[in-house]
Amino acid sequence: MEFIENFIDGKYLAPATGQYLDNVNPSTGQVYAKIPRSGDQDLSLAVAAAKRAFPIWSGMSVNERSAILLRLAAGIEARMDEFVVAESRDNGKPEKLAAHVDIPRAVSNFHFFATAIEHFSSESHYMEGIGINFTTRKPIGIVGCISPWNLPLYLFSWKIAPALAAGNCVIAKPSEITPYTASLLGQIATEAGLPAGVLNVLHGTGPEIGNAIVAHPSIKAISFTGGTATGEQIARIAAPMFKKLSLELGGKNPTLIFPDVDIEQTVKEVFRSSFSNQGQICLCGSRILVHEKIYDAFKTAFVRWVESAIVSYPSDPKAQIGAVVSKGHMDKILGYIELAKEEGGRILTGGVRVHLEAPYQDGYYLAPTVIEGLPNTCRTNQEEIFGPVVSLMAFSSEEQALDWANDTKYGLAASVWTKDLNVAHRMADRLEMGIVWVNSWLVRDLRTPFGGMKDSGVGREGGWEALRFFTEPKNIFIKHE
Ligand code: NAD
Repeated sequence: MEFIENFIDGKYLAPATGQYLDNVNPSTGQVYAKIPRSGDQDLSLAVAAAKRAFPIWSGMSVNERSAILLRLAAGIEARMDEFVVAESRDNGKPEKLAAHVDIPRAVSNFHFFATAIEHFSSESHYMEGIGINFTTRKPIGIVGCISPWNLPLYLFSWKIAPALAAGNCVIAKPSEITPYTASLLGQIATEAGLPAGVLNVLHGTGPEIGNAIVAHPSIKAISFTGGTATGEQIARIAAPMFKKLSLELGGKNPTLIFPDVDIEQTVKEVFRSSFSNQGQICLCGSRILVHEKIYDAFKTAFVRWVESAIVSYPSDPKAQIGAVVSKGHMDKILGYIELAKEEGGRILTGGVRVHLEAPYQDGYYLAPTVIEGLPNTCRTNQEEIFGPVVSLMAFSSEEQALDWANDTKYGLAASVWTKDLNVAHRMADRLEMGIVWVNSWLVRDLRTPFGGMKDSGVGREGGWEALRFFTEPKNIFIKHE
């Protein structure tokens, strides 16, 4: 049995509590490692280390910091295969996906912010005949980064990279369900020359070490990605302490399909936007709104395509759908499928657990599921399921599509499929979402603002938004004589 350790002050340390949690491989349902169940003492060590490291790290030139982060990116890239296998084993996702998306993206995150910081500048505002304002942007100090299990290293690095580039010291907590690749990062950081104490990785549960990070008075900003309910709890603690907060939360994203699309082509794209990573991407579309003129044709082609999808173990190169992340999550998804039936939904395909052959017979595999016949207002269409489950609905007009698309508490992302530029513009303009893709899905440019409206979050990540979040602006005015 492998024991994962915390990474504090440049060293791997056992938790002061002496307690560990099970780490399960979702493709087999077996425990394969133990992770620290960290507590306050571990956090105190990390905070003390970060305090010592802050003057060193923030005092380095931007070029020096950039060079270290570029070496960190290269360090992950050099161990790509190991990271890919580790990520899939922890999460259940096909290795092919980790190899094409998760790990290359983690490399890009470090690369992007290592270079972005060299171009980051602050403003000056000249007042004719009076004087000049100039704004400095300094690192905040010690910041907390808390990330979820669905894209483990991808989202972990999406926070840590800008935080470090901006000159902060970081106390980071990956999800206790997928801690492995984050734990490897310590070795890479050390080899890259990151000074001890600049990056500290603590493992454990949300209510314990996660909550302690949020509540610690020396941690001045919290960047969180996860569920909306957790975001609310975090805000309740952090807001009265006047911490800077970035919250990237849940979604119930609509996919809007207009009658002029090429159905066969759109089916393939919508399959990807619905079921990538077993539907466990915050940006996946789970409410598929199809114009009534093509509803039946789209449905038939889509269901046929979904039925042909290969559900298999992560190392199978043919796997399109791997295991969902945990037994608890699988049971939650199956519970939503039962709810959909109670609400009057018809299961067009899927709706069941898939049992593979040994040694994967106890893995958490679900058949991709398509449901129809549900109103937009029901719980199945309003609550985030975060699994391989989508609901089809037919709309008759642009107004109706827009009403349904906007009628949830969430506002993260939407995709619009049409050849009509006017329709695309009208929809994009009126969708209450932080991100709208037209004739595409999950095309990411790291310079763009990333995040959601309404209950999908507060603030934006990406590009300058992230570097602004992780710095404190100060305006200085100099009067002319
Ligand atoms: P979660 O909220 O349960 O956990 C996320 C992280 O927060 C984990 O590290 C967890 O240990 C920690 N945590 C839990 N309770 C905490 C507390 N009280 N204080 C501090 N930390 C706490 O979410 P999850 O189940 O890991 O991830 C799935 C959710 O994440 C979905 O809702 C999904 O939409 C969302 N998500 C959002 C985005 C986005 O960019 N908007 C991206 C990915 C995932």
